[in-house]
Amino acid sequence: MLWDDFLNSIHRDWRGDGTAEDRLDDPAWFREWLHNQRLTPDNPLTERELASLKRLRALIHRMAEAFFVGGSPADEDLESLNKTMAQGAVVRKVIREEASYSLSLASTASRWPNIEAEIAASFGKLMAEGELSRIRICDNPSCLWVYYDDTKNRSKRYCDDKMCGNLMKVRRFRARRKAESGQPSSEF
Ligand SMILES: [Zn+2]
Repeated sequence: MLWDDFLNSIHRDWRGDGTAEDRLDDPAWFREWLHNQRLTPDNPLTERELASLKRLRALIHRMAEAFFVGGSPADEDLESLNKTMAQGAVVRKVIREEASYSLSLASTASRWPNIEAEIAASFGKLMAEGELSRIRICDNPSCLWVYYDDTKNRSKRYCDDKMCGNLMKVRRFRARRKAESGQPSSEF
């Protein structure tokens, strides 16, 4: 989904101390990301627009976090989300690709405010149609990846069981062994 992908543009050193890297500050990464999301800005990003995108990211993160802890977002946050969506005049276009079709934004919708509106609408759609209790933040405190838990029993605690799940298992094991032996163990 667009919204969680956007939130995860803050990438953390999940194997280590959780040092965050903001990928929105990397123009090449961001261009590629927009392309993959079929978002086609017609203007290069200015400082002001970048700041605005970061505000939007913080807003959606705050709202997702509220749902994650079983609460609900503040009224003013909902209002900000609605304002962001209101700035988007969206023209959609179906594009034929051999036997399949994809939905894309027409070029008239390529101003930055429209792109913001698209991202906000992706979260708005989830709020309206998704299951809010499935919004998760990875249990690895160094990771904090935001995702939508689509497993049947809603028990997904990590963004990826093979990565963060395993890492945390190893950490718990080492902590236990350290506690049992009274020996310091090597950190990772
Ligand atoms: Zn994770």
